[in-house]
Amino acid sequence: MQIILMGPPGAGKGTQAEKLTGELSIPHISTGDMFRKAIKEGTELGKKAKSYMDQGKLVPDEVTIGIVKERLAEADCNNGFLLDGFPRTVPQADALNEILFELNKSLNAVINIKVARDELVERLTGRRVCKACGATYHVIFNPAKEEGICDRCGGELYQRNDDKIETVGNRLDVYEEQTAPLIKYYQEKGLLKEIDGSKAMDKVLADILAALGRE
Ligand SMILES: [Zn+2]
Repeated sequence: MQIILMGPPGAGKGTQAEKLTGELSIPHISTGDMFRKAIKEGTELGKKAKSYMDQGKLVPDEVTIGIVKERLAEADCNNGFLLDGFPRTVPQADALNEILFELNKSLNAVINIKVARDELVERLTGRRVCKACGATYHVIFNPAKEEGICDRCGGELYQRNDDKIETVGNRLDVYEEQTAPLIKYYQEKGLLKEIDGSKAMDKVLADILAALGRE
């Protein structure tokens, strides 16, 4: 099963990726994770990626495409894979087609987890993180027993800059602008499966598996 998982920040994509890769016994291929790992290990690719990031630039497509190509050629991808964070643009999607063609593979589906903007804003702005141990909470969905204090270590909880209302609005705008053409692209290819991400986590997973014909 070769699938792409898409969804805006706050849609629960990370959780679903973890559950799906477990259910389907396929590797989770996240370009973000691959870059972080390459940088940590100081590989050639890591150094290249870091040089762009240090300058505050986006890693260019050729670098990202190169790393995805190498990764998809590895043996653990023989039974399939779940791509997360790639492609982000139509040119990257075209490049992915070429890679898959060369590897004699094809995509089964592109899963797009949809959640209304108001709900995404509520989910994202409600996040709180412990300054001491990094534990995460949510003021509505997973509150600490005592407001502002970590249950686990007693540390102070704070709101990351990324989760402040101004930043959240901007993150969602950027995501929408960037992915709208990609969603259209996969819709036209008949690969897009839209999933209602506002439901409970287990229900969303069941809906995705049903959309993949894996009930
Ligand atoms: Zn803590």
